[in-house]
Amino acid sequence: MDDRAEESGVIWKDAPESTIHADVPKDWLDVATGGCVDAHEFLNFLLNEIVDILEKEFSTVKDSPESTSPGRAANGEVYHLANEVRREPLVTWVHKNFQGILTNETKCLMCETVTAKDETFLDLSIDIEQNSSLTSCLKSFFSTEILNAEDKFFCDNCCSLQEAQKRMKIKKAPQILVIHLKRFKFIEQLSQHKKLSYRVVYPMELKLSSASHDVDCEYSLFAVVVHVGNAANHGHYVSQIKSGDHWLSFDDDSVDKIQESTLQTFYGSSREYSRNSDHGYILFYESVAKS
Ligand SMILES: [Zn+2]
Repeated sequence: MDDRAEESGVIWKDAPESTIHADVPKDWLDVATGGCVDAHEFLNFLLNEIVDILEKEFSTVKDSPESTSPGRAANGEVYHLANEVRREPLVTWVHKNFQGILTNETKCLMCETVTAKDETFLDLSIDIEQNSSLTSCLKSFFSTEILNAEDKFFCDNCCSLQEAQKRMKIKKAPQILVIHLKRFKFIEQLSQHKKLSYRVVYPMELKLSSASHDVDCEYSLFAVVVHVGNAANHGHYVSQIKSGDHWLSFDDDSVDKIQESTLQTFYGSSREYSRNSDHGYILFYESVAKS
């Protein structure tokens, strides 16, 4: 990077395509370039592909002739042999970094029996409201919902459909918390998706407190995927990523240094029609140790 580039903020421009795509498997590129791909769908595809690759590599190591006794995989996990009856699921770095556990709790309002079910997640998809904040949207996500009328819950204890209270709790918070703001909403009257340009303020430091008291994690924002455009079925994606003490903006083959305050321009619009169509879509927070 020369001085001139630093002054203008441009760090990398017009990189040859071969440089960017050199190590990317072809089928990933086919997904990324083969049409309208939603960044959130692509993220899930990518993480699952990486898990598949790591699992295949792991089974190759395991099946090799040297593997005659339980050993330790490159990631430090103890692995078991194929002929062993009890096998533990492989924990890859994708799981270690991105996976959290949610507990889905349902309480029957007749007999008060609580049914709890755990589910793992790699990201949280949350509904958004106009002129709101990420914190308030998360609060709604974790709030108690009443199941009644058409939505009654079948209680095993009562052996019948009953009204119930339902809520989600974080059982295990992930190291990296990925939050997907549901900006693309299906409008039944139009039979199509519409982009919600709602203003949703996201903080640099986020405290994740769900209904569970034993989980209270602090996170720091380190990346934002921004959707550019007013339509739901086309547009462009750019990413803002923190590197050391700086924020960098990645837009195709150009990389620019930006001020942290620029992130505020991606909150969204408080009015329905606005010239600014760049909206924060996927937020990446990293867990920070409490002091
Ligand atoms: Zn019941």
